[in-house]
Amino acid sequence: MTAPRRVTVVGAGIVGVCCARFLQRAGFAVSVVDRGEPGRGTSFGNLGMLCSLDHALPLASMAVLAKVPRMLLDYDSPLAIRGRYLPRLLPWFARFAANAPEAARMRNARALATLLEDTLGAYRRLTDGSPAAHYVRREGSLTVYASARRFAQAAGERARLRSLGTRVEELDGNEIRQLEPALHRRYLHATWFPDCGHTPDPYLLTRAIADEVRVAGGEFLEAEVRGFDLGADGVRALRTGGAPIPVERLVVAAGAWSGELARALGSRVPLESERGYHSMLRGVDTGLRRPVTNGDEGLGITQMVDGLRIGGSVEFASLHAPPDYARTRAFHRKARAMLPDLPPESACETSRWMGFRPSLPDHLPVIGASPHHRNLWFAFGHQHLGLSLGARTGELIAALVAGENPRLELRPFRIERFRSWTR
Ligand SMILES: Cc1cc2nc3c(=O)[nH]c(=O)nc-3n(C[C@H](O)[C@H](O)[C@H](O)COP(=O)(O)OP(=O)(O)OC[C@H]3O[C@@H](n4cnc5c(N)ncnc54)[C@H](O)[C@@H]3O)c2cc1C
Repeated sequence: MTAPRRVTVVGAGIVGVCCARFLQRAGFAVSVVDRGEPGRGTSFGNLGMLCSLDHALPLASMAVLAKVPRMLLDYDSPLAIRGRYLPRLLPWFARFAANAPEAARMRNARALATLLEDTLGAYRRLTDGSPAAHYVRREGSLTVYASARRFAQAAGERARLRSLGTRVEELDGNEIRQLEPALHRRYLHATWFPDCGHTPDPYLLTRAIADEVRVAGGEFLEAEVRGFDLGADGVRALRTGGAPIPVERLVVAAGAWSGELARALGSRVPLESERGYHSMLRGVDTGLRRPVTNGDEGLGITQMVDGLRIGGSVEFASLHAPPDYARTRAFHRKARAMLPDLPPESACETSRWMGFRPSLPDHLPVIGASPHHRNLWFAFGHQHLGLSLGARTGELIAALVAGENPRLELRPFRIERFRSWTR
């Protein structure tokens, strides 16, 4: 009997472990290399939303661009740029702005929708019959508005979502309370996305999938990848702090750190990290059954197994800059305005966290083969949607590595779209 063909995956976040599990299903032996424990990167602390078409609209829009200057002046606003980082960010931001006009935005939205329309289907195929299935729920999500004006202003976005095939319903105050009795009575309008899923703990979901990989014979190696040995036949080995790790086939799924690795492999990409924060109110049980977004202030709350998670904010700063936890200072006040029974901050055991969303300026991930090395594939850049798109990406990567037709138009996700990027 011949040994199964081996694939090495760099990165044990949600994207990497989903790639590994689907690759095993396709008949490959897998090794997953990470400098830390699986699921401890950005996949650890996100808001747990398994978004479907409800999140198909890219962040960059003309309306968002118009708000940027005002948001930058308000420290508690959802957007921040560290002053010293601004010159470095400008080329990325110029591309981001170029993707904001309606035609470009909707073209990107249509491409993203082809991935998002099967978020829960892909997770079902990945987790059915395994303990990980316990961490995948389908209860929909709500975006609530206290301001009738804000709700009316969002009508255009709802129309765009509907044009992409998203199920979007508009709820009044009574309907909101029927779904989520804990929410404040000031909310008289909400957008209800019945097809959105969530996990009550993204770390436990990632770990449960990693455990499946292990049970199926996959190995996890703890090492920091610092470079590559390249040959005419492709990537030969990973250079680490210790002995090189030989590779037959390689998938780079290292989240926000993939840019440097891709560059060493001959592909330059404008990958930025949109840093985001959460506050966790440990032991607090709000009874919320689904993620709720505050449509007035751009903040999200999700009831997790071990407490309430309050999260949001986008901060542009270097991958190496220390966290600025003052960004979370308004989180509790804003969450308490949503949930009147929430205990005061002084009565809560609170932990804070920061993660790095891996973001490309067109809001689309990179999923596909390297143009330079025949045994190399990329799976990164999932920005605000990496948890949602983990399983979908894993399934597509497994098909590509196996040489199968993934039956999806993958051109919008090719790494070559950034050929002119020279930094
Ligand atoms: C506040 C916040 C809220 C969010 N909410 C949601 C949400 O509700 N739904 C959603 O879908 N998404 C959400 N996201 C985005 C989501 O968390 C990310 O897109 C996703 O976690 C990215 O997964 P990943 O596997 O690509 O990266 P990561 O989870 O960061 O994993 C990358 C791994 O690669 C490893 N690595 C990197 N470089 C190397 C190296 N050189 N050598 C070895 N190992 C290396 C790291 O150690 C890490 O384990 C949120 C993000 C934030 C910050």
